[in-house]
Amino acid sequence: MKEESIKLPLREEIPEKLTWDLTLIFKNDGECEKELKNIDTQIAEVATYKGLLSKSDSAFLEALKTILKFERRMERLFVYANLKNDQDTSNKYYQGLIARARQLYAKVGASVSWFEPELLELPADRLEEYLVQNTELAKYRHLIEKITSQRKHILSMKEEELLAGATDIFSTAENFFGVLNNSDLKFPEVRDAQNNLIQLSHGNYGKLLENPQRSVRQAAFEGMYHVYQQFQSTFALSLSSHVHTHNFLAQKRHYTDARSASLAKNEIPVSVYDTLVERVHHHLSLLHRYVALRKKILKIDQVHMYDLYTPITKVPSKIYSYEESQKIAVKALNILGDDYTAKVKEAFKSRWIDVVENKGKRSGAYSSGMYDTAPYILLNWQNNLESLFTLVHEMGHSMHSYASNTNQDYHYSDYSIFVAEIASTTNENLLTQYLLDNTSDPQLKAYILNHYLDGFKGTVFRQTQFAEFEQWIHEQDAGQKALTAKEMNEYYMSLNEHYYGSDIFNDPEIAFEWERIPHFYYDFYVYQYATGFAAASALAQKIITQGPKDYLAFLRAGSSDFPIEIIKKAGVDMTKEAYLDSAFDLFEKRLSELEALVLN
Ligand SMILES: [Zn+2]
Repeated sequence: MKEESIKLPLREEIPEKLTWDLTLIFKNDGECEKELKNIDTQIAEVATYKGLLSKSDSAFLEALKTILKFERRMERLFVYANLKNDQDTSNKYYQGLIARARQLYAKVGASVSWFEPELLELPADRLEEYLVQNTELAKYRHLIEKITSQRKHILSMKEEELLAGATDIFSTAENFFGVLNNSDLKFPEVRDAQNNLIQLSHGNYGKLLENPQRSVRQAAFEGMYHVYQQFQSTFALSLSSHVHTHNFLAQKRHYTDARSASLAKNEIPVSVYDTLVERVHHHLSLLHRYVALRKKILKIDQVHMYDLYTPITKVPSKIYSYEESQKIAVKALNILGDDYTAKVKEAFKSRWIDVVENKGKRSGAYSSGMYDTAPYILLNWQNNLESLFTLVHEMGHSMHSYASNTNQDYHYSDYSIFVAEIASTTNENLLTQYLLDNTSDPQLKAYILNHYLDGFKGTVFRQTQFAEFEQWIHEQDAGQKALTAKEMNEYYMSLNEHYYGSDIFNDPEIAFEWERIPHFYYDFYVYQYATGFAAASALAQKIITQGPKDYLAFLRAGSSDFPIEIIKKAGVDMTKEAYLDSAFDLFEKRLSELEALVLN
């Protein structure tokens, strides 16, 4: 690990053509500093509109436009500071710049915070009058209605004040979990494949579970969960307290339950959640078949929980250079049409991408930008197939942003978290299909098929399992039933047995897995990973068989409507089961192909 980081080049040694061009946002740091100062002094303007929303439709419109103007300027500045900081996190100047940008962001947030409560005080018929009279204001109808749709869940001014004042108290359990899990827990030393003792950590646990040597995987697994076993009552108290907070707030705000409260933010019907769980249950035999295939390939008597992540196909030795990968990406995405690939090429040519690793650069990969900037991509290129998949994934996000930015007004240009992973995963699916169609090498084929199946297992099956657990703990608490470690362990274990089937040995340690999943503190978040992945599988199939027209309309839609309606534009109705069944069909098809390849 250390040796590798010594070899990394410094930021200034990276050839310019492999770095992103942030001068497209601000010519230089001085321009950014100037804008920071300007926003800081000019933001006072927003307060001059306070109390005027009930005066006239034009005053309302001016207030809204002014607020959006400042949010937009702030966002642009923040993107610049953030990307500069991420390209070399050891750079002191940019550390300071991002810290100041964050402070200013908070100031802008506080300066505009009066708007929503004042809007909600405006009588509904008066607001409707405004929207009918003023055609300019009508362009913001959906944005305004997103706020007012929560009206019946807003409490009296006094109650709202009381709740707002207790915000940090409501986050106590989550903060407590974070400190316990990330800094206080100490994991044991375990033996790696070379028989060296290494310190087990959250960071290396995933890699150790992939280790081809079974004893390494087992040691990591047992080492990790024996620690969680010791702290099970503490974790149970922390999670149940957090769940109780969700239930308390949902009840006080007159929602049926915490799940409805969370989904209401984006008007997602709970049937989307229920249909997901129901269809995953219906197709669990496919996961069992996949476990059975693992057992055969790994040539083991019994699959343990620590055998689920080690690769069952050989990693291709072929080198995927960045240059060649750009060409493959364009060919794989060609099915989306000339306009789409023209933009992909522009992203390459106009330096929207920060390609290679350097000392201090943020790890991983992402797509980031806003209405007035290019949709930039950060990569840490590694010359392998995984990097190609990452490139195509992030390109999916960036092209989604580009299409929404260029076809929507600023206030509808961002897209909801519910649809965020759809465009990226659809691109990965298109790449998968392209690679399968264009290789005759059985080893590479097997790797690509398993790449898809593993992704599906980890996203659709596993996240739905989490979603079910999350719903159950909320129901237990709402029904005033016991929710200690004992109940959580038992329920988690039964869920695990049900999901993985009879070919797996349910190691007793897996009962503690819920303890270490931060997402259980995110308020009904995880199901979106599963719905997004399944929708992307269905969409890629639709694109391949029926062309990209509807899909491209979805990319252009931004947040101009509620997410369920926007995905309908692409021809997928997520309140129904068909898109899920279509995703499972694809999983089954690729599973059969892999079985045929490796079992003969
Ligand atoms: Zn993504």
